[in-house]
Amino acid sequence: MSIIENTTGPVETQAAYLLTDSRQLSFPEQSIFFAIKGQRHDGHQFLTELYQKGVREFVIEAISFTDTLREDLSKWDKTRIWVVPSSIKALQKTVMTHRNKFSIPVIGIVGSNGKTIVKEWLAQLIAPGQRVVASPKSYNSQIGVPLSVWNISKEHTIGIFEAGISQAHEMEYLQQVIQPTTGIFTNIGSAHDNGFRSRKQKITEKLRLFTKVQKLIYRKDYTEIDEEISLILRPVNPFLKTISWGNSNSAADVEISYTFKRTTTVVTLTGLLGNSRFETSFRDEASLENLVHCIVFLLDFGLNETQIQHRIELLRPVSMRLELKEGINHCYIIDDTYNNDVQGLSMAMNFLGQQEQRKLKTVILSDVLQTGQAPAELYHTIAKLLREKSVDRLIGIGPEITSQSESFFIEKQEFYKNTESFLREFPYTSLHDSLVLIKGARPFSFEKIVHRLQQKVHGTVLEINLDALTHNLNFYKSKAGQGTKIMAMVKAFAYGSGSSEVAALLQYHRVDYLGVAYTDEGVALRQSGITLPVMVMNATPPTFDLLWQYKLEPEIYSRSILTEWIDYVNRRDEPSATPPVHLKLDTGMHRLGFVESDYEWLLDQLTQNPGVRISSVFSHLVGADEGEHNAFSKEQYRRFIEGVSQIEQAIGYPVIKHILNSAGIVRFPEYRLDMVRLGIGMYGVEATNREQDSLQSVGTLKTIVSQIKYLSAGETVGYSRKGQITHDSAIATLAIGYADGYDRGLGNGVGKISVNGKLCPTIGNICMDMTMIDVTDAEVEEGDEVIVFGKEVPITDLAKSIGTIPYEVLTGIGERVKRVFYKE
Ligand SMILES: *Cc1c(COP(=O)(O)O)cnc(C)c1O
Repeated sequence: MSIIENTTGPVETQAAYLLTDSRQLSFPEQSIFFAIKGQRHDGHQFLTELYQKGVREFVIEAISFTDTLREDLSKWDKTRIWVVPSSIKALQKTVMTHRNKFSIPVIGIVGSNGKTIVKEWLAQLIAPGQRVVASPKSYNSQIGVPLSVWNISKEHTIGIFEAGISQAHEMEYLQQVIQPTTGIFTNIGSAHDNGFRSRKQKITEKLRLFTKVQKLIYRKDYTEIDEEISLILRPVNPFLKTISWGNSNSAADVEISYTFKRTTTVVTLTGLLGNSRFETSFRDEASLENLVHCIVFLLDFGLNETQIQHRIELLRPVSMRLELKEGINHCYIIDDTYNNDVQGLSMAMNFLGQQEQRKLKTVILSDVLQTGQAPAELYHTIAKLLREKSVDRLIGIGPEITSQSESFFIEKQEFYKNTESFLREFPYTSLHDSLVLIKGARPFSFEKIVHRLQQKVHGTVLEINLDALTHNLNFYKSKAGQGTKIMAMVKAFAYGSGSSEVAALLQYHRVDYLGVAYTDEGVALRQSGITLPVMVMNATPPTFDLLWQYKLEPEIYSRSILTEWIDYVNRRDEPSATPPVHLKLDTGMHRLGFVESDYEWLLDQLTQNPGVRISSVFSHLVGADEGEHNAFSKEQYRRFIEGVSQIEQAIGYPVIKHILNSAGIVRFPEYRLDMVRLGIGMYGVEATNREQDSLQSVGTLKTIVSQIKYLSAGETVGYSRKGQITHDSAIATLAIGYADGYDRGLGNGVGKISVNGKLCPTIGNICMDMTMIDVTDAEVEEGDEVIVFGKEVPITDLAKSIGTIPYEVLTGIGERVKRVFYKE
C-alpha cells in the first residue's frame, strides 16, 4: 500500500475508469475511486466495500482521513491512495492533464436549455466521417464534465461536451477541463437564477467557458448574450471569431427565416455562410432553434447543403428516457434505445443491476457504433461488463457483434445479423421470467423489438418518473439532515406507484428502512429481492411464521399482540433469528398503540422478556400538516419522549426514535429524532403546501381517446342523460372509468383532462370503464394520449375538487392500470 499525502496536483492514475459513485462500479481492477464528501452523501463510507470488490486506487479527502481510517487502510494490499484537500478538484486536475494530451477540435456547449439536444444532434450529424466523443446523457456538472472528458482517446477526431453551472465561479474549472476550441451558446432562460446575483452575471459566468475558443456560435436575438460577448468576452479573447444568427431584424451574421408548411418547416439561411434552405419535420420553436445551431456549425465546418439536408432527415426528438415496463412471458423490459455506446451501456447495465424483480438477466444488444476502437478490443470490454453484471443471456444483433461472437463467454448467447431477422426468427417463448435490457444504436430501430416484447398496454397507464422520486427523496433527506435515518413508506403498493420498482430504487439510494401495512406486502418485497429492513405495521399473529421466514419486523401496538409475540418467540426459541420489533405509542392519534395506562404492564413484560428485541419506538402526529394543531403536536412530542425514555430505562439499551411523517419533516425539523417516516412527499405531494415547488411531479396518469363524436344541441351524453349538449360539440370518449380509479365524483364537469395542452371538462356521468369529455375547443384525434393527472393537472387540485386528499386518489388507481417507470 502506498499513500501520497497532501497532493494538490493531478493524480497519476493507471486506471481506465474514474468512479465517483460507488454504485456505478463496473470494472473494479481498472477503476480509481474519488471519495467525495457532499451534503447528503459521503463517498468515504464506501471505501472498504470498494476495496473488497477489487478497487485498488483511491482518492480521499484530508478532512476525512482520520486515524481510524489510516489504521484500516494500512491493512490493504497493493493499494494506492492519494490524500487531497478536495476530491472534486483532484478529479478536475487529473482530467485537465488528460485533456492536454489531445489536440482535436472540441465543441463546448452552454445555455439554459437545449444543451443536451444540440450535443446529441451534432454528434449524430457530424458522425459520418468523424469519430466523435461526447458527454453521455446530460453529464454537465462539476463532476459530470470531468467524467465525460476522461473518455477522449487517441481514436477520436472531435469532441462535444456540455457544461452546466448552478453557481458563480464554477465555469472556470470546466473551461480548463473541456478546453473547447469552438463554442455554442444555445440560449438564456431563468433556470438556476437563484445561484446568481443577476441574469447578466449568469451569462458572464457561462461565457467563461469560451475565454480561449477560436469560434463562437450564438443567437443574436438574445440581446443580453450579444452585449456580454462584446463587453466581457472580447477583451479577454481578442481573436475570437463569432458567428451570430437571428431573425431578419437582428443584424446577425446569418439571417434565418422559417416557412411553416402543412407538415414541415422550411428554414432559410442567408448571409455570412451563403444562402441555403433546409426542410425539417420539426415545427416547434425550441427544436428549430436547436437545429439552426447545428446547421450553422455544420455549414461553417464545411458540409454542403445537400449533405446537411440528407442528415437532418434522420434526426428524431432526443429521448434520454430509459423505461421499465412489463413484458411478455413475465418479463420486465428495460427500454433504452436512443443510442448505444459503452458508457451508456454501462449506465443501463447498472440500472439493470438495481432491479430485483427477476433473477435472470438478458441483454439484447446491437453493434456499438462509431467508437473508433478496434472491434476486438471493444467487444472484449463489453464482454467483461456483461460478465461483471452477471448477465445470463446475450442476444447480439448486427454484423459486427456477430463477427465478434467469440469474445463473449456467456452461458446462453445467440446472434442475428439484423433487427428484421431477429423479429422473424427469435423463439419468443424461450424468453420468460427475465429482466430484459434492450439497448441499440439508432439505425437498428430497436423500438420494433420493444414493441414486440412489451406487454400490450391498452388505454390507461400510470407513468412513474424515477428521477423525480429520487429528487423528492433527496429533498427530504437534506431537510432531515445527515444524522437522521429515513424510513420510506411503501405501503399500499407504494401509494399506488408500484412497490417492487419503487423499493428497488429506494434500496439503491440506501434508505434505512421500508414501511408496509401488511405482512404480505413485506413478503412481496422480499420475493422481488429487497433486502432492506422492513417494518410491518399491522402484522397479525397468523402471519408470524411469514414474518420470521422473511425477516420482517412487526409493529407491536397492544397488550394482546405483545403477548402473542412473546409466546411465539419463546416457542421458537431461536434468539439470534428473532426479528426485532417496533413499539408504537399512542400519543393522541387513538388508532393503534400503547397508551399511558399500558406503560407499567408494558415495561414489566419487556424487562421479563429480553428475547423481545426492540429496534425502534415511534408515534404518529395527528395534525403535522396543519398549524392549528401545533400545540397538540407539541404535546404529542412531549408524551412520546416521556414514554420512550421510560422504555429505554427499562430495557437498558437505546432504541431508534421517530415521530415525523412527510409533513412533519417540513414543519417540525426540531422533532426529527433518529429517523423520519417519509410517505406522500416522496411521491410528489407536499402535504403542508409550503414547499410544493421544491418537489417534482412523480406520477402521470394517461389514457387515450377511443372515439370522437360530433353532437348537436338537445342530445345527451352517457347514463341517465346527465350530459346535456347545448350547442354543437365534439365529445371524446376516454378509456378510463371509475374502475381505474377515476372517481365518479369527477363527472359532469368537475374533472378536467388535459388534451394536447388544453383542459377539457368531463361531460355526463363517469362510467365504470369510460369517461366522456367535451373537446370542442381542443385539437384532438382518436388515438391521442390525454393526461388525467400529472404536471398539467395537479393531483392536489383533482383531489380537492371531489373533497378528498391526494393519498386517496393515488392509492385508488386500479390494479389493471399498467405502471411504466422511466428515468430521463
Ligand atoms: C403512512 C404513514 C406515514 C407516512 O405518512 P405521509 O403523510 O404519507 O408522509 C408515516 N407514519 C405512519 C405510521 C404511516 O402509517
